[in-house]
Amino acid sequence: MGTVEERLGEMREAFRSGKTKCEKWRRSQLMALLALVREEEEGIFSALNRDLGKHRAEAFRDEVGVLIKSINFALSSLKQWMAPKSVKVPLVSFPSSATVVPEPLGVVLLFSSWNFPIGLALEPIIGAFSAGNVVALKPSELAPSSAEFLAEAIPRYLDGAAVKVFLGGPSVGSQLLEQRWDKILFTGSPRVGRVVMAAAAEHLTPVILELGGKCPAIVDSIGSSEQKVAAKRLVAGKWGPCCGQACVGIDYILVERQFASTLIDMLRRTVKSLYGDSRNLSRIVNRQHFMRLEGLLKDPSVSASVENRTDDLAGSPLDSEIMTEEVFGPLLPIITLEKIGDSIAFVRDRPKPLAIYVFSNDEALKKRVVAETSSGSVTFNDTMIQFAVDTLPFGGVGGSGFGRYHGKFSFDAFSHEKAVMRRQFLLDFPSGTLHGTRPSSGSSG
Ligand code: NAD
Repeated sequence: MGTVEERLGEMREAFRSGKTKCEKWRRSQLMALLALVREEEEGIFSALNRDLGKHRAEAFRDEVGVLIKSINFALSSLKQWMAPKSVKVPLVSFPSSATVVPEPLGVVLLFSSWNFPIGLALEPIIGAFSAGNVVALKPSELAPSSAEFLAEAIPRYLDGAAVKVFLGGPSVGSQLLEQRWDKILFTGSPRVGRVVMAAAAEHLTPVILELGGKCPAIVDSIGSSEQKVAAKRLVAGKWGPCCGQACVGIDYILVERQFASTLIDMLRRTVKSLYGDSRNLSRIVNRQHFMRLEGLLKDPSVSASVENRTDDLAGSPLDSEIMTEEVFGPLLPIITLEKIGDSIAFVRDRPKPLAIYVFSNDEALKKRVVAETSSGSVTFNDTMIQFAVDTLPFGGVGGSGFGRYHGKFSFDAFSHEKAVMRRQFLLDFPSGTLHGTRPSSGSSG
């Protein structure tokens, strides 16, 4: 197994050998990753079931299926991504040509979280390998079966010198952070995100922070046939992915007071029909998180507003923890407003979310949300779906993190874009004329 330093040394050696720079190696690793996900599907399903009670349909939809799509996209785009791009040059540099050449960064460190413990561990590897890097992966200790699955399956399929899995909790995380890396992608909480950034600063290592936050769903009063579709998508977006334990899941709903009762009744009915059989739902990851969620409900002002729901829906207390902290579970606060347009100010007054969902037919409202709020993404009339679109960047802004990945954005995230300038010996102008000035004699500049 070896110490962290020894294993890191082996990875550095693998990178220095230059093999990861060839398209052939990158392609072979992506193919091997695809084989791992396809052939080990049963192993993935059972690990996800043991860690989170995930149903195999959910496990395929949110992890296995998404990975297969992403790997195929990378395989079909790799050549194009790797190709140097010619760029225009100004007349002042005539005659010359210039290109932007992507080069791998080197050894990258990935921290993944427990809620999509296979998907969020392997998705960044697709980008890191496409870009020709070697990878150290630190899965979350809170999904131990998935972490063990990764540690066992990865060396069986992939180049063992170019990807290593480090099992353990925060102390292993700290040990890894003491090392010098060429890039760190961290998926997790803002609290540990700060620890990662501080450690990375020591070595001037660039970081991507994929954090969480409170993603609002703004629900306008829409027609009755659309309400049914909206209710289904809202319920699926809240409870469907890992029972609400999802960074891009709906955290709370904003709705006009006059429409709130109708919406709540629709949501109740839809929850029953979609998830009345709770065997379809994932479970809360552990006892500690269960108690945390129970604590959110025990807040007296929250219980009062739950009990009075048919009389006064405006009671959801904005200062209580359920509205100041990320819920990350199956509880859904519903906040009522006089006018749906007030939702813009509501969202703007709070930290920037990873995603905003808007259910509406009002084009003016949609325009305002895009123009007047800031978030990692905005999705109209659906939830979560943006995560699976390879041509969109995935990442946060402000409190929800920074940096982005997925598709070509992952390739870019793990590449350095090197500026390459080519001139000829022909047509030599007197020195200094290119810059419009001639150095005066005796100048030291
Ligand atoms: P966490 O921050 O507690 O842990 C993440 C990782 O950091 C784990 O591997 C853990 O072992 C390690 N770690 C913990 N303390 C450490 C320390 N002091 N030093 C070094 N490493 C340490 O996160 P979590 O609770 O597992 O995940 C939940 C959070 O992740 C939520 O906020 C959620 O929104 C966010 N999340 C974000 C995304 C995204 O893509 N933006 C996806 C999933 C989850």
